[in-house]
Parts: sequence; structure tokens; C-alpha cells
Amino acid sequence: MRKPFIAGNWKMNTDSQSSTALASGLAENLKSVTTVDVAVCPPFVYLQSVAKALGDSGIAIGAQDVYFEGNGAFTGEISCEMLKDVCCTYVLCGHSERRHVIGECDELINTKLKAALAAGIKPILCVGELLEEREAEKTDEVVTDQTKKCLAGVSAEEMANVTIAYEPVWAIGTGKTATAGQAQEVHAMIRKLLAEIYDATVAENTRIQYGGSAKPGNTAELMANPDVDGLLVGGAGLKVDDFSAMINTVA
Ligand code: PEP
Repeated sequence: MRKPFIAGNWKMNTDSQSSTALASGLAENLKSVTTVDVAVCPPFVYLQSVAKALGDSGIAIGAQDVYFEGNGAFTGEISCEMLKDVCCTYVLCGHSERRHVIGECDELINTKLKAALAAGIKPILCVGELLEEREAEKTDEVVTDQTKKCLAGVSAEEMANVTIAYEPVWAIGTGKTATAGQAQEVHAMIRKLLAEIYDATVAENTRIQYGGSAKPGNTAELMANPDVDGLLVGGAGLKVDDFSAMINTVA
């Protein structure tokens, strides 16, 4: 039985005051939720203050990216050890904005993901197709290729700490959500792929989140799919009431 997992990706939003206010509001609203795993991924510079504001609410903290080297002359980068030092449980790997805006490739994402696992941080691997790829009926091919390349060298045992987020790029921040049917189709395909790469146990146990304009109004419908185990939430994760409502819907 896969426990639902909902994570908020704050992207490059909030400031020192609003990040703390958002975290405090969520901590207050969600402290009694035990049936859903919840995490928030604030900007690096607010990780510590957000962790403090979350207190013992049970809401975990994640980073939006990480570098694979341990330490040293890597100007501007943040290591796994640094993330652990500020209480990060999770890290996003290969978010579409890092792929398509910053230019990260599958090989780099794979290196980061493996470094996170080696350090004891749980990666959330984001995969998803562009609009032109969906229109060209290449969704399965693109998602399969990304998943295989980004999980290369990851063992079945390590998969216990990996979450996959299916995020169709055309649905991120656009207000266009994949229909429940479109989400389920790709989630089921990813689960079948995990059975091929690993085995039935890994396929059965791996949590697959949907991301792309998820909001209170479509949470129930998306989460009703048998292979949708949670949500990766951008815009709606920046509002205490919306993010709380989504988690309460699932709880
Ligand atoms: C995201 O940033 O991962 C995301 C899904 O954003 P939004 O919910 O705003 O589409």
C-alpha cells in the first residue's frame, strides 16, 4: 500500500517573511495529518528558517536541486551534505524548469540523483514530455527514455527511497491540467516500466506523483486514479489554504 505523498515546489518564489509565514500556516493547518506524507521545497536560502517554522508539524523539507560533488571549488552549487545539514529529507531532481530553462540533461540528473541517494537524501525524479512531444505521440517514448537514463545505476533497494513525479511540461504553471485519464495512462506506463527495469515489488512500491496545475478543484479526481500516488504542486503550494485543502482532500 503506497502512502500518498504531496510536495510543494515553491520554485524561485517567496521572501524571508512570506516563506516563514507560509511554513507556519501549513504547520498549523496540517499538524494532525498522518495519512499523507507532506513536504515543501523552498528556495535554498530559506531552507533553515522554513525548517524552523515547520517545527514538529511532521511536514518534511526538500531542496529544489543539488550538486553531485561533495565539496570544493564549485561556485554557486550546494552539496548533499549541506542539504542534510539543514534537515532536508528530499530533493527534486530534473524538474522541467531545470531541464528546459537551465539546460540539465538526463546524465547530469542521474549523477545528482545517485549522489542524493548515496548521502541519504530521497530524490523526487521529475519526468515529462513537452507539448510538441505529446502532439507527436511521443509521450511514452520521452518519459521512458528520461526514466531509464535518470535511474541508470540505481539499485532495486535504492528505489525504496525514490519518488517519481510525472509532470507533463505543457501542464506546468499553465493552468492546463492533464485529464485524470491522461495522468493515469502515463503513470501506469511508468509503473510497467519499473517492473521491466526492476521487478514487480519495486513497481508496486514506488510512489508516482502527478504535477502540472494541480489545485484544490482537481485533487480528488487526479488522486482517484489507481496509479497516482500523490502530487507535486507549484502555484497552489504557495497558498496556505489551497495547499492545506489539497492535503485534507487526500487525507
Ligand atoms: C511544478 O512546479 O512542479 C508544478 C507542477 O507547478 P504548477 O503546479 O504550478 O503547475
